[in-house]
Amino acid sequence: MQKVEKFIPLSRPTINEETIKEVVNVLKSGWLATGPLAQKFEQKLSEYFKGRTAMCFTSATAGLHASLMALGIKEGDEVITTPFTFAATANVIAMLGARPVFVDIEVNTFNIDSSKIENACTSKTKAIIPVHYAGLPVDLDPIYEIARRKNLRIIEDAAHAFGTSYKNRTIGTFGDIQVFSFHPIKNLTSGEGGCVVLDSESEQKFLSLQRFHGIDRSIWDRFSKNGSCYYDVVFPGFKSNLSDIQAAIGLHQLVEIETLNDRRRYLARRYYEAFDGLKDKIFLQAIPGYDFTHSGHLFPICLLDKMQRDNFMEYLKKNSIGTTPYYTPLHLFTYYHKTFGYKKGDFPNAEYVGERVVCLPLYYELKEDEQDYIIETVKKFFRKFMGEMCRKRL
Ligand SMILES: *Cc1c(COP(=O)(O)O)cnc(C)c1O
Repeated sequence: MQKVEKFIPLSRPTINEETIKEVVNVLKSGWLATGPLAQKFEQKLSEYFKGRTAMCFTSATAGLHASLMALGIKEGDEVITTPFTFAATANVIAMLGARPVFVDIEVNTFNIDSSKIENACTSKTKAIIPVHYAGLPVDLDPIYEIARRKNLRIIEDAAHAFGTSYKNRTIGTFGDIQVFSFHPIKNLTSGEGGCVVLDSESEQKFLSLQRFHGIDRSIWDRFSKNGSCYYDVVFPGFKSNLSDIQAAIGLHQLVEIETLNDRRRYLARRYYEAFDGLKDKIFLQAIPGYDFTHSGHLFPICLLDKMQRDNFMEYLKKNSIGTTPYYTPLHLFTYYHKTFGYKKGDFPNAEYVGERVVCLPLYYELKEDEQDYIIETVKKFFRKFMGEMCRKRL
C-alpha cells in the first residue's frame, strides 16, 4: 500500500487561478458589497435553473429562514422534515416558533420516507422540507402530490443537491422552492453563501426586503431617474445579502460545476465498486428505482457493527484520512428533546443509520491513488477487526 504523507481531508474546495484573479479584481474595484457581480451571479444561476428566479443569501440557512418567513410560517405552525440532516434545516423552523415535525427516513436511501408523510400531517401543517441527503434526490413526486392535495408548500433543502436530477429534471428547475448552499464543503461554493430558487413575484419581493433590513427603495425610485438616497423601511429585515467578493467565486464555480460534479460522481462510482466485497461489514446509500443523477456531494458508508464506528474513524484519522459522521439525527439533540419532547426511539431508521454512518473524503481534487489508499485503509481496518473478533472467540 502506498504511503500517503499528507492528511486527506473530508473535503476541500477547488479554486482556480482565474477565480483568484477575479477576487483580486473585486478587491481593487472599490465595490466589495452586493453589486454588479452579485447581480450577474443571480442571472447566471437563473439561467442554470431554466429561467426561474434565483436570489442569493449569505448562507442556505439564511435562505431557508427567509423562505419560511415568506410562506408566513409562525408560532403554532408545523413543518415536516427529516431528522437526518444538518441542524440548520430544523433550526430555522424552530426559530420562527413553529414545530419541526420529523418523519423517519428510509433505511436504504437515507432520505425522508415519503410514505410516512401523510400520517404526520395535521391541521397545523403548513410546509414540508425534504432534504436531498448526500446529493441523492428525494422521491419528490409523492411529496408534491400530498402537498397539492393538502395545500402545503414545499421548500427543498438542496444544500447537497447542486447538479442532482430527479427523473431527468435538474433540482431547482421545477417544483416549489429550493434552497442551495455555497458553503465551502458543498459542490459549488462562493466562500459562504446560498440561494433560493422560486417563482412567486410577491415572495421574491419579500425575500429582497427580508435580506436587506426591510428597506424598500421602490417608492422613492419612482421619483428619481438614477435611484435615490431616500428609502422606506417596511419591516425589520435581516442583513443576509451576498457580497461581490463571494459572487466572483460563485460565478467561476458555476462555469465549472459539471466538470466538478462529474469528477465527484466518478470517484463515488470507484468507491461503490471497491466496497462491493464488504457487504458483510458495511452498507451504502441504495440506488432508488426512479431515474436520477447523484451530485456526489457526500460518500456515506454505514458500519453494520455500530460498536466499531468510533474505532473506525480513529483508525482512519491515525492513517491521515478525514471522516465525519453526518448526521446525528436532530431529535436526539438537547434542544429538540427539551423543546419538542422528542426522544431516542422516535425515528428508528434515522437512529440506525445515524449510529453507523461515516462520510469518506470526496472532492474534485481527490486523486485516484489517494482514493485507493483510503479504500485499502478501510479494508485493512475490517481485516484487523475480524482478526480481533476471531481471537476473542478462541
Ligand atoms: C450545509 C447545509 C445547510 C446549511 O448551509 P449553509 O450555507 O452553511 O447555511 C443546510 N442544510 C443542509 C442539509 C446542509 O448540508
